[in-house]
Amino acid sequence: MENNSQKQQMRILLLRNFLAFTLIFIVLGLVIFQLLQQSLYRNTDHELIRVSHDQRLLEQELITTLQIENRNNDERDPAFRPRQPELFNTQLLIWSKNGKKILNKDHLGNRYYEFKELNLNKKRLEQVKNDHLKVATTTLYFRSITKKIRYQNQTYYIEYIVNTNQLHETMRSVQVLLLLSLVFFWALSLGASYWLAKRSMAPILLSWQKQQEFVENASHELRTPLTIIQSQLELLFTTPQKTILDVSEKIGTALAEVKRLTRLTTDLLLLAKTDSHDFVLKIEKVAVKDFVNETVSPYQELIETSKRNFHLENQAACFVNIDREKIKQVLIILLDNALKYTEEGATITVSSSLQGYDWCLQVQDTGKGISPEDRERIFERFYRVEKSRNRKVGGYGLGLAIAAQIVKFHHGKITVFDNFPQGSVFEIRIPKEN
Ligand code: ADP
Repeated sequence: MENNSQKQQMRILLLRNFLAFTLIFIVLGLVIFQLLQQSLYRNTDHELIRVSHDQRLLEQELITTLQIENRNNDERDPAFRPRQPELFNTQLLIWSKNGKKILNKDHLGNRYYEFKELNLNKKRLEQVKNDHLKVATTTLYFRSITKKIRYQNQTYYIEYIVNTNQLHETMRSVQVLLLLSLVFFWALSLGASYWLAKRSMAPILLSWQKQQEFVENASHELRTPLTIIQSQLELLFTTPQKTILDVSEKIGTALAEVKRLTRLTTDLLLLAKTDSHDFVLKIEKVAVKDFVNETVSPYQELIETSKRNFHLENQAACFVNIDREKIKQVLIILLDNALKYTEEGATITVSSSLQGYDWCLQVQDTGKGISPEDRERIFERFYRVEKSRNRKVGGYGLGLAIAAQIVKFHHGKITVFDNFPQGSVFEIRIPKEN
């Protein structure tokens, strides 16, 4: 079930990445194509616009054409002999008012037969247009600009044409090249999408796994006290004639398990809150010296009656911005552990000092210490070094995980290292100005 949903999630991610890549390639292709086309045709368009603005040249061409047309009855002045086009790939066409007749056909010579098929487009005057003409088996591509000219109370249209067959060919090869490279990179992007999807899935899978472990551990821890309570209550049912005093031991056991359950659910709830966005600290300015004294004093007695030695080095005399209750909880977790995981005769030291901009609080003990491998994991939820032994001392492996979360919310750091000659040191560092 979970595997299926993971696979589906992976597929969705892959598809999303691939679509994003495809979209990027399409946009990129279009932009490159557009830019190339613009730069290729830039000179041609400049030439077209330049000629269309050259009123004198256009009028001169028109006059020449009209004069030739007037002498059309075979008495042509040699001065007005039809000229060959100046450039093979540029041409001026002079159209009659209705746009049906090309007037400078003598001037065009043989080319007239090519342009004869052309229709004048009066709509987009003085704008560069793209057009093509089929001449026999070849296609003539060109760009043109048309200008309206009034001469002797008559209207004429002059169309300036530039052949773009070569540019068209270049553009076609660029187009093919662009398309091939885009298809190649598009195929590569499939691999990249898969890699990216896998990468993005990694933290999700890890958190899924952690969540699953957490739920399994929590249910396991909840089930044990529930089973004990259930068996104690069932035993009570089998002896209805007995007084409460007779069965007080069973009731006591059940109650102790209820207490453990309450503590466990409170811890679980706090952890769940720190995972969601519901966890808000009540930051206030706290005088460190008094705060440490207040928190530690009830423990001092407890530690000493448990036949351990206690030292307090309360040096930091400053104010810190912290959530008083939450940091108190951290200190109690550390003191509680120091008491639980040391033998009689051990020494527990609490020291509070200022280190640069940080408030540094240490809880040291002379217990059996924690191995480097366990040190890596003791801040994980439900992690306990000696599981069987810990059940006897009442731990669920949630204390340090809660402490780490609280310190993290204070932008601080919690670490553990060896105490010399033996034992462990838990250190929290919290910035004074939070
Ligand atoms: P627990 O409720 O089991 O004490 P914690 O999260 O507080 O859970 O601690 C995790 C584990 O780290 C403990 O089970 C214990 O094995 C180890 N540990 C914590 N504090 C100490 C300590 N001062 N000395 C030795 N081991 C410790």
